[in-house]
Parts: sequence; structure tokens; C-alpha cells
Amino acid sequence: MTPLHDRDGWIWMDGEWLPWREAQVHALTHTLHYGMGCFEGVRAYAGPNGTHLFRVAEHTRRLLDSAHALDIPVAFDAETLIDAQRRCLERNRLASAYLKPTIFLGSEGLGLRARGLSTHLMIAAWDLGAYLAPEAARIGLRALTSSWARHHVNISLCRAKTSGHYVNSMLALNTAVKAGFDETIMLDPEGYVAEASAANVFVVRDGVLHTPEVTSCLQGITRDSVIRLARDVLGMAVVERRITRDELYLADEAFLTGTAAEILPLRELDGRHIGARSGAPAVGDAIPEGSVTARLQGLYRRLVRGELEDDLAAFAAWLTPA
Ligand code: PMP
Repeated sequence: MTPLHDRDGWIWMDGEWLPWREAQVHALTHTLHYGMGCFEGVRAYAGPNGTHLFRVAEHTRRLLDSAHALDIPVAFDAETLIDAQRRCLERNRLASAYLKPTIFLGSEGLGLRARGLSTHLMIAAWDLGAYLAPEAARIGLRALTSSWARHHVNISLCRAKTSGHYVNSMLALNTAVKAGFDETIMLDPEGYVAEASAANVFVVRDGVLHTPEVTSCLQGITRDSVIRLARDVLGMAVVERRITRDELYLADEAFLTGTAAEILPLRELDGRHIGARSGAPAVGDAIPEGSVTARLQGLYRRLVRGELEDDLAAFAAWLTPA
């Protein structure tokens, strides 16, 4: 596979279009050294009515909010950035894509006291496809609870999607992957379920959907979409509250949500099959068609592709034509 940096295309950097291979930064780029930056992951989907960016306004708002929380000044407004994301698809001839708008500090100085640093903003888009193996959405993931705690509100900016946060995510994920698992579930510093390495967590029990409050987990945009679909379309009760690890073991269903991950069933946590008390499903068995997870996956798939008949008509504002 060719490396990501070695391809044809265009990357938007500070208002200009750079040929893909020439979109480079200096070795003294401040963010590279200290992780003080922020980014977004946005998806665009091809559907029967063309390509649409999904909830790009919310992603762009979160990007600018993250920069504000980090106290990084940004010269571009949301409208300009949304337009640049649309043009990124057009310029790279992408019908479906993953976009990564990223804000970082320049190379005018190093050290924690550096002053006069410039702010840079780049947007790259490429065809990502499925986040994990394509069958993961059908059969689900095997996860391990992490020994690494997730962020605490008094240690980092839990509402911001900052670059430095992902050291913690990768410590947890890499430990789980090395041990042969697909994903990790991180607990907050008090021991309650926070989130996966780059996705939010949901639990279904007795027909009610539960998800952790947004204290130590990211306020996911897919999390919000799923809450709205469950409440408004499936008529389910959704509760945001503290959840313990054993509630995941005892769930009828559990799944992860994220822009890249979309909706991925959690099949197993720490060796316990989720939902199966006896006669655990064989590895490779698909989740049941009538399950809450499968129904939400079906709705989400139609929604992001702009198939907004009847039950989904109310969500048209979440789609921006590319
Ligand atoms: N938590 C973390 C740590 C993430 O990186 C992501 C992906 N952005 C999510 C949750 C899910 O957020 P969203 O649905 O907005 O992509």
C-alpha cells in the first residue's frame, strides 16, 4: 500500500491549495513537540442524491471550540472552513471521504513559553472506507478494559478534541491490540466507563439505551446522532449517566459510535460475551437483525447517505451538499 503522504491530490493549508506531496511543515513545528493542537474527523458520503458532508457545521464548531479552549487564535471563520471542506472533496474528486481539519502552532519558537507562534489550519481528505475490517460492523468487536484511565476534567480539556489527548488513547489501544483484542474500553479516573480509544460507548438493557455523561469522554457528534435516532425514530428512552464496567458485561447489547467507526457492535468485553448468557454466538455470527444496534446501524446508514424518506426527513439539516 502506498503511504498516505505519497499520492496525487490537494491539501488546503492556510487558505491555499498545496499539491499533496508538498504539504509539509518544518521540523520545529511547535505542535509536533508538545501536542498543543486540535483536529476533527468528518465524513462525506455518496448517496442517491449526490455527495453530502455529514454534520459538518457541528464538526467545524467543535474544531473552533477546541482551539478556543486551548487559547489558540484562529483567523478563519466557520463558513470559510465549511466551504474549504466542500472544495476539498471537489478538488480531490472524492464522492465519499474522511476529512481531517487540523489546527497547529508554527515553528517560530520552541519551549512552553514560546510567544508569537503562528496558527496553521490544514484540511486533507481521502477515501478512508471502513474504520476496521468491513465485517466488524456485522459481527462486532472484542474489547479489553484498559488499565490506563481516561482523562479527568481537571487534567485536560475533555470537551476539546486536542492532539495531545491521543497519547492516552493510543497507550490504551496499543495495549489491547498487542494482547489480541480489536478495541479497548477506557474507564474514567473514578472507575466508571468513559469511552473507547476513539469512539463513544452505548449500552442497551431492557429496551433502554444508556451512555456515559460527557465528563471524561468526548461529546461525540455520532453519539448525539444516535441519541436523536433512538429517541425520535425508535421511540426509545435514552439515559446519560455513570455506567460501571459490569453493566457492560451484563448488557443486552453494547456498541461504539464515532465518525470514523460509525456504529460498531461490541461483541465481547474482557472475555464475556455481551448479550449471550449461555450458548454464546459463534465467532463470525452476525448480530441479530432486529437488535437495537442493527436497527440504529440501518437508520444511520440511510441518514448519512441522504436517504431521508419519512422517518428521517427531520434530519435534512445535518447534510451539506458537497
Ligand atoms: N471519543 C474519542 C476519543 C474520539 O476520538 C472520537 C472520534 N472523534 C469519538 C469519541 C467520537 O466522536 P464523533 O462521533 O464526534 O466522531
